[in-house]
Amino acid sequence: MQEVDNRFGEFGGQFVPEALMPELIRLNNVFQEAKTDPAFQAEFHRLLNEYAGRPSLLYFAENMTKDIGGAQIYLKREDLNHTGAHKINNVIGQALLARRLGKTRLIAETGAGQHGVATATIAAYFGMKCAVYMGKEDTERQKLNVFRMQLLGAEVIPVTDGQGLLKDAVNAALADWAVNAQDTFYLIGSAVGPAPYPAMVHDFQSVISTESREQMLAATGKLPDAIVACCGGGSNAIGSFAAYLNDPTVKLYGAEAAGEGLNTMHHAATLSKGSTGIFHGMKSKFLQDQDGQIAKVYSISAGLDYPGIGPEHAALQASGRATYVGITDEEAVSAFEYIAKQEGIIAAIESSHAIAYTRKLAKQMRPDQTIICTVSGRGDKDVASIAKYRGVDIDD
Ligand SMILES: *Cc1c(COP(=O)(O)O)cnc(C)c1O
Repeated sequence: MQEVDNRFGEFGGQFVPEALMPELIRLNNVFQEAKTDPAFQAEFHRLLNEYAGRPSLLYFAENMTKDIGGAQIYLKREDLNHTGAHKINNVIGQALLARRLGKTRLIAETGAGQHGVATATIAAYFGMKCAVYMGKEDTERQKLNVFRMQLLGAEVIPVTDGQGLLKDAVNAALADWAVNAQDTFYLIGSAVGPAPYPAMVHDFQSVISTESREQMLAATGKLPDAIVACCGGGSNAIGSFAAYLNDPTVKLYGAEAAGEGLNTMHHAATLSKGSTGIFHGMKSKFLQDQDGQIAKVYSISAGLDYPGIGPEHAALQASGRATYVGITDEEAVSAFEYIAKQEGIIAAIESSHAIAYTRKLAKQMRPDQTIICTVSGRGDKDVASIAKYRGVDIDD
């Protein structure tokens, strides 16, 4: 067994019931093996290319660049992947590890349903059984995604414990895993959870920045000056940052959901407003109330609506290597509309948080400088809620 560093600075670790420790150790062993196994890496990259449709484009947003008049803006188009977001990168990697461990059943938690759909997709592809835990309230709000998962052959299990939300679905998935670990793999949807999950998700999503680095050098002959990505649990952001962590000239920015404002009770800006705690198997930053209970979080964007953040981001903030900013619903919606009109791209409302910050940042930079903004997903799923936000009735 290899010795591993389970922590990012003071954050990370493995805070799980004793029954799960042997599973985490087995998982870490195959993960460490797979890292240096050329056959695993070849299979992973073959599926990224042939199934997910990589490499994704690095697109020069000329209209936005001209309109804003500051730095040159490039968009890393994860919205063009199969299933419409970056999540497919991670589920392919983890499903391959599950297969290596001899597991035949995948379980996942999901909030709005995006990670559930990605997991159900890869389970269908690999011929594995799949169960997705989803808060009861979320199953009612996201009927289309529930049906989509069922169509892909997954069982969707509504969770009524707690508030019937994403964090309760995570607890239910952990409980299932503790009982069924023999044949079951818990496929976590972001750069969160006990070690080695945050490091695994970092590796699987780092394809975003490995590609963008090469693409940027080919396009401009230089590294970018800044990277911007939105942050829910932090998987697309860590994937967007990974290849630049040791390039100090490349500034790294994460855009969190500031909801109705950082000074209200209605946001999900964990790094701007949270405090250190232990939850979902990790030590990280969380939004907590005065009693240390996990607070109810809010954002117009379901994918950013998580009360915690991956431990590596907490460490990157603490060391000053990356900067995290809050973007309100209003700013995100106006960026959603802006990029649609300027570039003809309907980006996810999550990604629109990154676009909103890119608009602000580009203005403060010079025309010879460059920004890469990750468009983590496509926004077809958000059209109805944007219409509702703007008071437009499109129901009939
Ligand atoms: C799930 C999701 C996110 C948020 O998750 P991260 O782990 O923070 O990347 C962002 N954008 C899209 C399109 C998503 O589906």
